[in-house]
Amino acid sequence: MTEETKKDIRKYTLDELNDFFISNGEKAFRSKQVYEWLWKKSVTSFDEMTNLSKKTRSLLIDNFIIKSVKIKQQQKSYDGTIKIVFELYDGKTVEGVMIPSEKRATACISSQVGCALGCTFCATGKLGFIRNLEFDEIYDQVALISKLATEELDLKLSNIVYMGMGEPLLNYDNVMKSIDIITSENGLAMSPQRITVSTAGISKMIKQLGDDNIRFNLAISLHTANNNKRNEIMPINKQNSITDLIEAIKYFHEKTNNRITFEYILFKNYNDSIDDANELAAFCKNFPVKINVIEYNKVVDTPFRRADKLHTEEFVKLLESKNLIVNVRKSRGKDIDAACGQLANKFSV
Ligand code: SF4
Repeated sequence: MTEETKKDIRKYTLDELNDFFISNGEKAFRSKQVYEWLWKKSVTSFDEMTNLSKKTRSLLIDNFIIKSVKIKQQQKSYDGTIKIVFELYDGKTVEGVMIPSEKRATACISSQVGCALGCTFCATGKLGFIRNLEFDEIYDQVALISKLATEELDLKLSNIVYMGMGEPLLNYDNVMKSIDIITSENGLAMSPQRITVSTAGISKMIKQLGDDNIRFNLAISLHTANNNKRNEIMPINKQNSITDLIEAIKYFHEKTNNRITFEYILFKNYNDSIDDANELAAFCKNFPVKINVIEYNKVVDTPFRRADKLHTEEFVKLLESKNLIVNVRKSRGKDIDAACGQLANKFSV
């Protein structure tokens, strides 16, 4: 077999690997060993699979290749946050972030190169859509960030957020498959409750998540509960209005019983008034929710500015007076453009 005709081994399921070994006169248990090397240990060459005989390794080398994502560049913020540029199989790049806290680390990862949705406050939206990531390209970001957290800071990766570049629900199958392996005993064995997928609000796909009865967390980048304002800053709202979202989230909640998180970036003099808070509170009465109020980080070529401290406090106080659960999130990694809405691949895509 030439290098070009060799198959990508990580596209094989455990059962398919079983069949391969049996049809080549090998014991079926080899497949489990290989699968563990590929996913649990994330090796990038067959020679690293030291519990296989030379003959078995040669069989694999003759038939397969292992594709893997590489770290192209990394940059550390004064607050310990590390932004990573990942090089994908075709040389395109996406960004991810490792956010450390005292005892644990969170990985923020990308699901698409660029994004088609064009939210006006977001750096990634300015790139347009380039392509979807494959499920193993998504997985590799997590595995590499986990390794980085252990090696650099002696921290265990405890949470994963799909909040980097791209709209995860428009790359549904690859995102779901990546989560399957992240949570699998043969992969990273992480609890689905430690994973959050964040969407700009694609109603049809939110219902699909309900039908698939997902166990991971769902966050919606809401940013305003006013339909006209949302049309202005998030063009996807024109096909997925606030009314559509209410219906989809109710459906999702009925199916999964999961509490949704709303992400709400506060923009000065745009969505930070008491009226805006009242509108958000009325919207939230439809289902059990948690609200993350997020500090905005200036992105070049956008008219938005960060809401001031007093407005933020009054906004939060109003929500809390309506018995809503609210967290105020300070952005991390601002000095390296690794904060929410700032990932935008300043390298070649
Ligand atoms: S905020 Fe999310 S959905 Fe909107 S353009 Fe940016 S990456 Fe895409």
